[in-house]
Amino acid sequence: MSTSVQCTLFGKTSQGLDIPSFVFGEQKPHQVLILGGVHGDETEGVLVAQALYAHFLSHYSYSFQTTLVPTFNFDGVLKKTRVNGRGVDLNRNLPTKDWSPELFNPRYPPGPKPCSEPENQSLVKWLEDHQPKFVFSLHSFTKTMLNTNGDCAEVAKAMHAICGYVIEPTIGYPTPGCLGTYAGIERGLPTLTVELPHGALTSDLLAVAKPALLKGLEVLDRKFK
Ligand SMILES: [Zn+2]
Repeated sequence: MSTSVQCTLFGKTSQGLDIPSFVFGEQKPHQVLILGGVHGDETEGVLVAQALYAHFLSHYSYSFQTTLVPTFNFDGVLKKTRVNGRGVDLNRNLPTKDWSPELFNPRYPPGPKPCSEPENQSLVKWLEDHQPKFVFSLHSFTKTMLNTNGDCAEVAKAMHAICGYVIEPTIGYPTPGCLGTYAGIERGLPTLTVELPHGALTSDLLAVAKPALLKGLEVLDRKFK
């Protein structure tokens, strides 16, 4: 069965590249967003997003529409850097109440002002326009984790049963300007930050992380039907 998919422009990078997005399913009241490649050196998230893309092309019958953005920080993915093309950490640059210009960690530059980066301006507009019922943000880290912000418990529990990643409401250190706070806490748009195993083999990501994500989507499908 072929799937309805629209190739759309999510936004532009600071270096002027198009950020592609793929919208699966018909227009539905319930929207889900899946972001990969927020940090360009965490290519495991890009890989899993691409695997979902291939899966959705042949199997998509959910009760919600999904917007999949495999390479949100496209400049960073190309350069294999955490930061975007202007050297800003996109997951510290969102206009949260706790945003700060202070450089808490040299690896996580927050940018000159909240939402200074075009990638995040597109993301904020998309979130405002679509009010998604769930957001998955695919990262990778030495410690695997399902970081829940907002009402994510049911999805996280179902995913944990498959992948075993620990469920944590906080990542363990302050993350001002991050998506979990911006969308999950301050706007009530449940946001699950998935920390995939950094450096994992493609075969492991396909065998474990992809089915875990599909299980999470299955939970949402039942919930929204
Ligand atoms: Zn990350």
